[in-house]
Amino acid sequence: MTLLILAAFLGLITALIAQSKGRSFGAWWLYGFLLFIVAIVHVLLVPSLRTATSKSHELRDCPYCAEPIKLQASKCKHCGSEVVPLPSKAETHGDGTKIAWNRVAVLALSVGITFIIIRFFGVK
Ligand SMILES: [Zn+2]
Repeated sequence: MTLLILAAFLGLITALIAQSKGRSFGAWWLYGFLLFIVAIVHVLLVPSLRTATSKSHELRDCPYCAEPIKLQASKCKHCGSEVVPLPSKAETHGDGTKIAWNRVAVLALSVGITFIIIRFFGVK
């Protein structure tokens, strides 16, 4: 019974990370509940849907020929005009480092919990 509660709690960690990446909370909770060790590694490696969609939309129109070009571009690929490069949305938010540290903290936490499980429920 205790193990069941613990598994539900561990599933919750997986689900929260998945949710922060724009993925299904319920599906990842079940995944984490059943296969925590696999799910926690999987959810940390899986790319975020939010950053993936925002990156593909980092375009603006060239002021000279009105064709879509990248925000960071200093030269238009369509007409060759010099344009002022703009910082990308991901850089302006500046959450790249923060997310990385979050992942490290969660990973360290999950490793710690795994050790506790092995200590309390492992074979002697
Ligand atoms: Zn252009």
